[in-house]
Amino acid sequence: MATASVAVRPHENVTGYVTKTRKMLINGKWVDSASGKTFETYNPATGEVLSHVAEGDKEDIDRAVKAARAAFETGPWSKISPSERGRMIWRLGDLLEKHLEEFAQLESLDNGKPLKIARVADLPLSIDHFRYYAGWATKIEGNTVPMSGWKQGMFHAYTVREPVGVVGQIIPWNFPLLMAAWKLGPALASGCTIVLKPAEQTPLTALRLGELIQEAGIPDGVVNIVPGYGETAGAALAAHPDVDKVAFTGSTEVGKLILKAAAGNLKKVSLELGGKSPNIIFDDADLDSAIPGAASAIFFNQGQCCCAGSRLYIEKKAFDKVVEGVADNASKIRVRPGFDPDSDLGPLVSEEQLNRVCGFLESGAKEGAKAVTGGSREGTTGYFVKPTVLINTNPKMKVVQEEIFGPVVTAIPFSDPSEIAATANDTIYGLAAGIWTRDIKKAHSLASKIKAGTVWINCYNIFDASLPFGGYKQSGWGREMGHEVLEHYTEVKSVCAAL
Ligand code: ADP
Repeated sequence: MATASVAVRPHENVTGYVTKTRKMLINGKWVDSASGKTFETYNPATGEVLSHVAEGDKEDIDRAVKAARAAFETGPWSKISPSERGRMIWRLGDLLEKHLEEFAQLESLDNGKPLKIARVADLPLSIDHFRYYAGWATKIEGNTVPMSGWKQGMFHAYTVREPVGVVGQIIPWNFPLLMAAWKLGPALASGCTIVLKPAEQTPLTALRLGELIQEAGIPDGVVNIVPGYGETAGAALAAHPDVDKVAFTGSTEVGKLILKAAAGNLKKVSLELGGKSPNIIFDDADLDSAIPGAASAIFFNQGQCCCAGSRLYIEKKAFDKVVEGVADNASKIRVRPGFDPDSDLGPLVSEEQLNRVCGFLESGAKEGAKAVTGGSREGTTGYFVKPTVLINTNPKMKVVQEEIFGPVVTAIPFSDPSEIAATANDTIYGLAAGIWTRDIKKAHSLASKIKAGTVWINCYNIFDASLPFGGYKQSGWGREMGHEVLEHYTEVKSVCAAL
């Protein structure tokens, strides 16, 4: 690994931001945690302490829920028009755009991802997300309902969609700002109030976003942001009796805990969880696009994507060429600190993730998998892992069955296209899949057989605020994005009046 030539000068706001202990946002005020405790976040490129952050726990969650409840029931938010709500959300998108470079730098420092990627992916997608949901604020409607039989003509019946109330949102560390945007945009558009808990590894951009939320004119108490650990702050939020709905993105394991915690008051639950997504390349695919497509499907964001194309199935005739091509792509990826302008792949987010991914690499090697390229940690400073292509696997191996959440792909040949749907579906997950072929009939017919919330054909990792995203099976409940997500943030009320 080349040493970091830190050519990018840190934005002045960023330097100032990380050196001061960050507080939490409750009822429009930046406050310390009730316990006075703080926790450290680390720069994944160096392993050094990056910042100190107020550590929220149950008491802080209680304070935040109380503020969100008051804002929902009696605050100015409950009275403002959908149009004004939309304007505030739009303004938030504009403010984020104005501060794009600062946020991209903060995200790169906190999460480790290449700064150049944060600039062109995380930030534009987050900004667009707020703009998309700004438009929805004025378009959440009910229906008039025709009644039948003896009731016909005797009643006027209609439905209204009302905000679900106080929402708890628990988000992960892989796309810290974007996940906050995914959660906040539709909840605000629907008129809910929110307690957001960012991941303990990466709380900084969500907290800085809190300042922009205030600047955008969103009233106090509407968005409360409580950083802290999952087992304390997260669990308290999921279990809170005065929270009407919890929205979670993270591991399947924690998703199940959230579900249990939510059962106390039967709060509504939506879950966007893990994956082990099949990416299928047929002999007749345009390999010039399928090969780099397969590489980016797994290596994007250091492989820390719930939808990463981590099981690469290749039809036999194309197998050698694709494996060689993906390995060649992998070996050219420059693994460097996110602030290095040449960085294509940054460190993993934490030491814990580094150990986890290296554990998978060791288990794969022990079970007989062969690394065509990569296969180990990169360097000894920071949490870097070499982009890795594994062959000689079998369906029982941990590296084929379990979500690795790192830059590791298993390349598996197949010879009978009629069996590939069953093979692709042979997983507890069902988040996403990729299909590469020139045969349009084959593509759509296979897409219909894949049990996954998203199927990409001759592309991968294409996201848009308008396109629903979420999982079948143990990849989750419900959908993020599009108009579908609005159903999670609204209740339907039927009103029936005698005429
Ligand atoms: P990962 O395993 O990828 O770190 P997690 O699913 O553990 O992802 O974390 C995603 C989010 O869930 C984080 O904000 C984390 O703090 C939170 N979390 C972890 N454990 C719990 C829990 N028991 N209850 C509620 N939230 C939790």
